[in-house]
Amino acid sequence: MEKVKPKKHLGQHFLTDLSIAERIAQAVKGHGGVSKVLEIGPGMGVLTDFLLNNPLDLYLIEIDHESIVYLNQKYPQLKEKIIEGDYLKYDLKAIFPDKYAIAGNFPYNISSQIFFKVLEEKHRVTEVVCMLQKEVAKRIASPKGNKDYGILSVFLQAYYDIEYLFTVPPGVFNPPPKVHSGVIRLTRNQTEKLDCNEKLFFQVVKGGFGNRRKTLRNSLKSFNLSEEFKTNPILDKRAEQLDVADFVFLTQEIEKGRGAH
Ligand code: SAH
Repeated sequence: MEKVKPKKHLGQHFLTDLSIAERIAQAVKGHGGVSKVLEIGPGMGVLTDFLLNNPLDLYLIEIDHESIVYLNQKYPQLKEKIIEGDYLKYDLKAIFPDKYAIAGNFPYNISSQIFFKVLEEKHRVTEVVCMLQKEVAKRIASPKGNKDYGILSVFLQAYYDIEYLFTVPPGVFNPPPKVHSGVIRLTRNQTEKLDCNEKLFFQVVKGGFGNRRKTLRNSLKSFNLSEEFKTNPILDKRAEQLDVADFVFLTQEIEKGRGAH
């Protein structure tokens, strides 16, 4: 089989350390009793080899045609479970009408977009085990009060329990990326729906972090806070000091104020 030459614009950094691939695969627990797992960006199948040892039914989605040709030769047993396409655009509903898990050594340049798609599919995605840029991995797993804590942390923590599993150095990839990598696991929590207007919640979180050094009283000005709520001490805080429950409270209050207008 012709080996695939890594392509930079697709974020291709192929793992060369098999023990790390094995650790990532073993971290997939099949939370929520799922029977299927989707690997995003299998490349040449380094992680795929170990995911095949997992009892979950494995599907692959890969954007690179050359990798697809390689994978089809390497895994004839997966046949129509090998999907050629862009994960961000692909309609997965037909293949995964029910709950499923996600695994992968993500293309780092689109990892945030991948998580926004996971959020859209949160009612079916029970678990995500992935490797990505360490900085982003830390941010997603970070608790409030930390400088890494941000919009994606709040959005994902609203629906997932997040564990930072381990750090991976650049030297175990071909070609080595410029940054360290981190492996995290997201496990779907019990929250079906937040106890507030969810659309407004997303806007409030975004607004709050718009200028993270400002107090919320300042950064949320455009939300027309009610006179009564304007004196609430929560508004003296900055966005990074609030956890999901605090943001839910804030959203409820802003919603009340809206009703009064
Ligand atoms: N899992 C492999 C490769 C990781 S590199 C390994 O660990 O060695 C990231 C992979 O994601 C590459 O193979 C790249 O082609 C693929 N990729 C990039 N953008 C993608 C997208 N939008 N949808 C699906 N796969 C993508």
